[in-house]
Amino acid sequence: MKITVVGTGYVGLVSGVCYAELGHSVICVDKDPMKVATLQNGEIPIYEPGLQELSVRNSELGRLRFTASLGDAVKGVDLIVIAVGTPPLPSGEANLAYIELAAQEIADAMEGHPVVAIKSTVPVGTNEKVRDLIRARTDCPFDSVSLPEFLREGSAVSDTMNPDRIVIGTESPRAEALLRELHARLDCAFAVTDIRSAEMIKYASNAFLATKISFINEIANICEKVGADVTRVAEGMGYDKRIGASFLKAGIGYGGSCFPKDTQALIQIAGHVDYEFKLLRSVVEVNQDQRFNVIRKLEAIFGELRGRTIAVWGLAFKPETDDVREAPAQEIIGELLARGVEVRAYDPIAMDNFRSTFGSGDGGVTWCESALDAATDSDAVCLLTEWKEFGQMDLQQLRGVVREPVLIDGRNAFDEADLQDTDFIYYSVGRPSLA
Ligand code: NAD
Repeated sequence: MKITVVGTGYVGLVSGVCYAELGHSVICVDKDPMKVATLQNGEIPIYEPGLQELSVRNSELGRLRFTASLGDAVKGVDLIVIAVGTPPLPSGEANLAYIELAAQEIADAMEGHPVVAIKSTVPVGTNEKVRDLIRARTDCPFDSVSLPEFLREGSAVSDTMNPDRIVIGTESPRAEALLRELHARLDCAFAVTDIRSAEMIKYASNAFLATKISFINEIANICEKVGADVTRVAEGMGYDKRIGASFLKAGIGYGGSCFPKDTQALIQIAGHVDYEFKLLRSVVEVNQDQRFNVIRKLEAIFGELRGRTIAVWGLAFKPETDDVREAPAQEIIGELLARGVEVRAYDPIAMDNFRSTFGSGDGGVTWCESALDAATDSDAVCLLTEWKEFGQMDLQQLRGVVREPVLIDGRNAFDEADLQDTDFIYYSVGRPSLA
C-alpha cells in the first residue's frame, strides 16, 4: 500500500515509520525543512525509544522516504494520513489552522482515488468540515476516515505495533477495507463506527484517563491526612477488573501535549452544545492544583523559601520522552523562582527542550550536568519526573552532596523502606511521610 503521512511530529513520524515496518511504502511530509533534512540524514528529531533503528532500517529497505514537498508526495497514493498538530487556542478549543492548511494543500495536489484519514485529535464534526473543504477545491474522488491515535510518548513504537484497538470512523466500506488491510498484521480489536463517534472516542478516552489520574490524586491527598498509603489503596482497587490497575498512580498530576489540551477541548465541545461537563472541569481543576503540593510541602518544612536552593529532578512531562509541553516542572519552577528560590535543574533527556521553551525567565535556574550535580548544596531535592535513574539514586551518595536532607518525591519513585535508615525528611504523594 502506498501511504503519505502529513506531519512528522510524535504521532506522524511514529505512524509513518511503523507503517513502513508493516511492509507498506511510506512518504512522510513535513513543512519544517530542518526536520525533513534531519530525517533524511537518518536522524530522529525527537526522543522516542526504538524509533531511530526502525526509521533507518526501513529507509535502507526503500520503504520510507521524507520530503518537504506535500504536492509531490500525495500524487497517486492509496492513503493520505493527516497527523499535524492541533494545539490549544487561548479559549481551550483546538486550533484547526494546521489541519485546514494541510487539507487545502492535499486537495490541490491529490490524484487517483485516495482515502484521506485524519489521525490528529480533532473536535467532533471536523472530519466532515475537512471533507467539505477538500470537496470544494477538487473534483478528485476520495473517502474520508477518522483514524484517531492512542499511542503514548515514550512507548510510541511499541504502542503502535501492539495497539489495544484501531478506531476507524467512516461511511465508506472501501475505506474501511483499506484501513483494515493497513493494520492487517497487527493483533488488535477494530472499532469501526461513524465519523463523529470515532472523533468522540478519542476525547472520551483521554478524558476518562485524566479522570482516573485526578481521582487517585484526590484519594492520595486524603490518604496523607488519614494515615493510609495510596500505593496499597490503588493496588487493592486495581485487582477489581471493573476498575483496572492502570492509571492509578498518584503523583503531581498529568501534563504533556494531550491530556491538558484534550480535556479543555472536550469541555469546549460540550459547551458549544450547551452542556456543562462539570465532572471534567473538576478533573482539570484537581490536576492543576495537585502540582502545587510540592511547593506546599516545601513551605511546610522551611516556611519562607526565599534564599533556599532547591534541586529539581525531571523536566519532561513524563519519563522516556523529551516532550516538555505542559510539564508540571514549568509551573513549579516558575513558582519557586517567584518565591526567590535558586533552582538547580536536571533532566536526562529534556534539558534542551525545556530551556528553549522556558525562555528568558530562567534567571535563577542553574542547568545541571547530572542529578547529583543538581542536588549539590541544595536545601531540598524535588523529584518531578520518574526517570529510573532518580529512583535508583544511591542515597548515601546523595546525602553526601546535599546541604539539607530533604526529599520531595512527586512521583513516589523511591521505596520508603530504603529511606527508613537515613536521616532524610521524605515527603511523597499519598504515603506516610518520614520526618
Ligand atoms: P507535533 O507538534 O509533534 O507535530 C506536528 C507536525 O506537523 C510538526 O512537525 C509540523 O511541522 C507538522 N505540520 C504542521 N502543518 C503541516 C503541513 N501543512 N504540512 C506538513 N507538515 C505540517 O504534534 P504531535 O504530538 O505529533 O500531535 C499530532 C496530533 O496527534 C495532535 O492532534 C495530537 O493531539 C494528536 N495526538 C498526539 C499524541 C502524542 O502523544 N503526541 C497522541 C495521540 C494523538
